[in-house]
Amino acid sequence: MENGKIKRAIKNYRELAAHEIEVEKCVGDALNGPRPEIDGKLELSQMINPKRPFFASMVNSDEKYVSTFRMGHFNTPEILSKSVRGANYVGGMEFGSNLIKQKLVTDFDDLVSFLLDYKFGILDIVDENEINGKTVLDLRVYECIECACLPNLGKPTCIFEAGMITGILTEMTKKDVIAKEVRCWTNGYSFCQFEVTLE
Ligand SMILES: [Zn+2]
Repeated sequence: MENGKIKRAIKNYRELAAHEIEVEKCVGDALNGPRPEIDGKLELSQMINPKRPFFASMVNSDEKYVSTFRMGHFNTPEILSKSVRGANYVGGMEFGSNLIKQKLVTDFDDLVSFLLDYKFGILDIVDENEINGKTVLDLRVYECIECACLPNLGKPTCIFEAGMITGILTEMTKKDVIAKEVRCWTNGYSFCQFEVTLE
């Protein structure tokens, strides 16, 4: 994988994210990015064939892989319903934890490579702070396989990925970890951002 290309992509996405955060709205405690919210439900045609510039430059037919991944979701009615969200989070935790236990991923750098290899997305730790004795990470995923190019549906959608990050970091650090997605394509942004707390 070409390091220069990844660094350039991350730099561009960080700039875009900074701009989108600058112009975002906050309604109650819900964040909403610059792309307008759509009325009605998500159509199949809106989920498939997304343009992911970085991955499309690395592999032919990137949009087909992403579409295949997303078609699995059509087994589940009401994709954004509460029970599905809970099951997805736990499924993601289990998956993430097994990646470490079964040594498919050994450390953080390895995780970045794994997510690039399997085209999940480009992982970027933007910030790390100590707040009230807890470590809080600003962790982002660009060109996410789950949500890249989806319309603004009013709330984040990458529940499986949040669970996966929780499972991976819990297993890696042996701490209590909670990852929550706060910004996503489906609440109007062009990136995913996870607030991750370790204690
Ligand atoms: Zn997302």
